[in-house]
Amino acid sequence: MLEDKDRIFTNLYGLHDWRLEEAKKRGAWNGTADFIRMGHDWIIQQVKDSGLRGRGGAGFPTGLKWSFMPKEIGERPHYLVVNADESEPGTCKDREMMRHDPHLFIEGCLIASYAMKANACYVYIRGEYVDERNNLQAAVDEAYAAGLLGKNAAGSGWDFDLYVHHGAGAYICGEETALLESLEGKKGQPRLKPPFPAGAGLYGCPTTVNNVESIAVVPTILRRGADWFTKFGRENNHGTKVFCVSGHVERPCNVEEAMSIPLKKLINEHCGGVRGGWDNLKAVIPGGSSVPLIPREICDDVLMDFDALKDVKSGLGTAAVIVMDKSTDIVRAISRISYFYKHESCGQCTPCREGTGWMWRVLERMAEGNSTTDEIDKLLDVAGQVEGHTICALGDAAAWPVQGLIRHFRGEIEERINAYRSDRGAVSMAGVAAE
Ligand code: SF4
Repeated sequence: MLEDKDRIFTNLYGLHDWRLEEAKKRGAWNGTADFIRMGHDWIIQQVKDSGLRGRGGAGFPTGLKWSFMPKEIGERPHYLVVNADESEPGTCKDREMMRHDPHLFIEGCLIASYAMKANACYVYIRGEYVDERNNLQAAVDEAYAAGLLGKNAAGSGWDFDLYVHHGAGAYICGEETALLESLEGKKGQPRLKPPFPAGAGLYGCPTTVNNVESIAVVPTILRRGADWFTKFGRENNHGTKVFCVSGHVERPCNVEEAMSIPLKKLINEHCGGVRGGWDNLKAVIPGGSSVPLIPREICDDVLMDFDALKDVKSGLGTAAVIVMDKSTDIVRAISRISYFYKHESCGQCTPCREGTGWMWRVLERMAEGNSTTDEIDKLLDVAGQVEGHTICALGDAAAWPVQGLIRHFRGEIEERINAYRSDRGAVSMAGVAAE
């Protein structure tokens, strides 16, 4: 189990005061100006050496992403935009960081912006996060009053402004280019890439979009050293990570743990185990609703990191672990997730606009058993035609849960179809007999 001394988020549960003075006692804003004096390249190299991979879902190496920004400021300013939209079902980690440890995050915004030569950062926060944005804005105000933001931020010689922008609750605005559109005051619809945001992002200027957790861990990595961060997790999957565990466990919780922790250990040690015991486990969605589920036999020994979950055809995603015990109607559960993606599709591209609704309607019938076994293959085919054929990753996010269901629970779907047919047969035979 991760020791308390190795936790980055020491106030994840809000047991202490989140305001500036207490945050400083826990280590925030300690040595910030010194790191900045080490220079842009030094910070980026430290983040690269730490092996930090983006915590928003895609797992792209953070330091490498930062290095895509232009080396010098040209005619256009550089921007850091933080994606605090956190709308993936099952995910509830960034909100706790912003609500209970906002100064660690704000300090990270300054350091990351400086590394990429940005004098301004926009935090795009989910509209429903009212307490979170109130605390974050109050912490930003405190930081300005204390000289940690603004001109010569934290005495570093770098001028830096931070703005908190409230979203309006659309899931698609968590997609980085839709987020930029929304931030510019337009309808939140994803852009075609290229150009990528590092070339032409917010207002057409070089921009990097990062997740809250990716930014909030940076000051501690610099304070404790890249080597310290690489102590945790397997090769290529380093660091600590906040996992959000929900569903059929005794004690759902957010917990910071070392990457690559076995899923079984995570659930047993931090959540009191699966409701009714491990043998009552049916399946787990390990990384937020968009990743394919994994059945009990894979859960027995899978590790919670990017590569291990990819190897079992799922993903770490946002590390939102949704646990389902044997009482779960798995077809109905995936159908409900399908409905979510259908509802959140922005409608720009045909495979997503039409495919998400089609998949949901078929799954609704399959949940009743009112389908045919041929239709299972057709559903798989349509999911494959949505995946990878759309402007943004929402198409993939809609296809993957369906593919995971069929890969692991095809037998259960077939049984349900057969049961429905034999029931209907019995009813019609009874009708014939009555005549
Ligand atoms: Fe919009 Fe879906 Fe296309 Fe993304 S994949 S741009 S959400 S229609």
